[in-house]
Amino acid sequence: MAIDDIKKFIAEKDLHAETRFVPKMLNQIGKPYPEKIAVIGAGPAGMSCAYYLAVKGYPVTVFEKEKVLGGMLTMGIPSFRLDKAVVNAEIDILREIGVEFKTGVEVGKDVTLAQLREQGYKAFYLAIGASRGTAVGCPGDDLDGVYTGIDFLREVNIGNKPELGDSVAVIGGGNVAIDVARSAVRLGAKDVTLIYRRGRDEMPAADDEVAEAEEEGVKLRFLSAPVEILGDGKVSSIKLELMRLGEPDEKGRRKPVGTGEFETIPVTAVISAIGQKIDMCGINEGSGMQFARNGAVLADSVTYQTGEADVFAGGDVVTGPSFAIDAIAAGKEGAVSIHRYVHKHTLTLGRDRRDYKALDKSNVALALSSFDNAPRQKAASASVEEAKKTFADLRGTLTEEQIKKEADRCLGCGAVSIDEYMCIGCGICTTKCKFDAIRLEKVSDYKADSYFKLLANIAGNAPVAVGNMVAKKISLRK
Ligand SMILES: Cc1cc2nc3c(=O)[nH]c(=O)nc-3n(C[C@H](O)[C@H](O)[C@H](O)COP(=O)(O)OP(=O)(O)OC[C@H]3O[C@@H](n4cnc5c(N)ncnc54)[C@H](O)[C@@H]3O)c2cc1C
Repeated sequence: MAIDDIKKFIAEKDLHAETRFVPKMLNQIGKPYPEKIAVIGAGPAGMSCAYYLAVKGYPVTVFEKEKVLGGMLTMGIPSFRLDKAVVNAEIDILREIGVEFKTGVEVGKDVTLAQLREQGYKAFYLAIGASRGTAVGCPGDDLDGVYTGIDFLREVNIGNKPELGDSVAVIGGGNVAIDVARSAVRLGAKDVTLIYRRGRDEMPAADDEVAEAEEEGVKLRFLSAPVEILGDGKVSSIKLELMRLGEPDEKGRRKPVGTGEFETIPVTAVISAIGQKIDMCGINEGSGMQFARNGAVLADSVTYQTGEADVFAGGDVVTGPSFAIDAIAAGKEGAVSIHRYVHKHTLTLGRDRRDYKALDKSNVALALSSFDNAPRQKAASASVEEAKKTFADLRGTLTEEQIKKEADRCLGCGAVSIDEYMCIGCGICTTKCKFDAIRLEKVSDYKADSYFKLLANIAGNAPVAVGNMVAKKISLRK
């Protein structure tokens, strides 16, 4: 199913100020809680945590070191893939439900956790992401015209145009490298080459995004690793070592091994998209937090509590670079924990670990032939030639007609089923569901006998039953 497109269609309805959903405060006491909560970092993890806490009725302040809110959604992902207006409309809802934002405040440097505790904050959600890029790490990577992908995309996203010249080398094979390369095309670079040290099969970037980049003219060069960036103050060329694939590494991917052969190609800019680092900005100093070898904050996998009892953490700062949806889910769970923590409830009882169990497809009783084989619906979009000239998102939205066709393709294997032995058909669930998602429908016409008729039936059977019992007793005595 084209689930992204279906969600986009629905979400677009929610973008309009007059029709959008602004949740009301939901808590058992009917008035706001007094405990102040601080969220550090305004990316998807922090925003999600702030949202659920504010809906619960907490006064929430989000501290963000940049001037712009949204984290990697506004400062990383290019606008041709995620329109900033969409993210900003979501942020407006947080403002409407009372979340306070303090931008330009770097926690750890401008204010410490200890100072925030003194200001009365009762718990913290640490969601500072993995916001530093990784340099190429070879001689010459400090020349003019050398950028990290994260810095480059941040500049582009805030409306600046880094000087690239005509020929750009992008180092890396992941999704960030693809975003960098496609952004370089849109900034007018004539020759953009993605340089990856392994082969096409080992490339971690999503296939559809690689295909889109190639359609826009990005060249892919495999089995090549940078060893030196050359230039006199400013980049003029890059020296590459040609690689071959050796034994698999601990993740099962074959390791690139240098062949000892080199090639130097002329370039006007080099952008490294080979990873992201976590920068604690001093927040950890003097704290009881613990860290993994890659710098990620160690937090409980269910409660997200860190070594500091009042500090919960989630998103990329815990997992390392991951996906927005994981950060959003972590923020929601963080809000549950913080609510329990400030009310001194157990943090763990009844928590859903959301363990993923793959569907055993060999045992699915689905008669696939009985479903129609309608093709996946595609939204009408602009041509590649148009798309590559602009940072605007020119991908279309499915029409209502297409949405119906697409939704009809659902095999319904995720449909909720009712346990007929447990459901007594009282219908209370239909009145309790906040989203009006449960409907009670009569599917059979079975009519139970009335109570009095039931009594009359029992009474009618009684003489026979008593006679049987007496006969049984007599036969036992014999
Ligand atoms: C180029 C790029 C493309 C991506 N594409 C996709 C995609 O297509 N789909 C997808 O699902 N995911 C994508 N991701 C990953 C996704 O964006 C991240 O997984 C997600 O944003 C992580 O959310 P977060 O809230 O943990 O951190 P972030 O989004 O990084 O937010 C952290 C926030 O904390 C702030 N901060 C940092 N330190 C401090 C401090 N000391 N004080 C106050 N504030 C601080 C930062 O400025 C930032 O705003 C992409 C990432 C990048 C870089």
